[in-house]
Amino acid sequence: MARYTGSVCRLCRREGLKLFLKGDRCYTDKCAFSRRGYAPGQHGQGRKKVSNYGLQLREKQKAKRIYGILEGQFRKYYEKADRKKGITGENLLVLLETRLDNVVYKLGYGQSRAEARQLVTHGHFLVNGKKVNIPSFKVSANDVVTVRDKSKASEKFKTFAENPKTLPAWLEGDIENFQGKVIREPSRDEMDVPVNETLIVELYSR
Ligand code: SF4
Repeated sequence: MARYTGSVCRLCRREGLKLFLKGDRCYTDKCAFSRRGYAPGQHGQGRKKVSNYGLQLREKQKAKRIYGILEGQFRKYYEKADRKKGITGENLLVLLETRLDNVVYKLGYGQSRAEARQLVTHGHFLVNGKKVNIPSFKVSANDVVTVRDKSKASEKFKTFAENPKTLPAWLEGDIENFQGKVIREPSRDEMDVPVNETLIVELYSR
């Protein structure tokens, strides 16, 4: 399973906004973007005129980076979204948002999507009672996500249970009992991602 292994703070600086890829550190004054809010590299502080293509490319890169997905897999998501009924851009975001690693993150396990992804690959979760360790697993309406019995006693999971997150309306959960459920697919306004998905569709439709 390929994944990006470089500096994630560079990605925020490249996209020109905080993508919150590092968990707690993102909320401190150690955040690299807060300290150097310009693009990385020798020409990062130069003035740039961005073409239409450049704008579309940046939106795609931003979405990939938020969800921690590489190009090949992202394109497959786009193709799948395009085949589905409805608005392609929104379909794309729904497919990304209902990945198991994102659902687990939204339920309150992990300070970042990267940490949630690692928890999934380490086999800490069950979907409808069956162990699933594939981060890209698509979670559907009425699926129940629980923590494996063995993991519940670990310090890490106890900490998650003591610090519940506010859940989006499309999820319900009881983190103290390590349970979560997908009620339905999220609508666009319930997906808190700073991405203009229309530009991504325009890019791939070229
Ligand atoms: Fe981005 Fe977080 Fe790094 Fe700040 S600390 S640059 S928000 S990943």
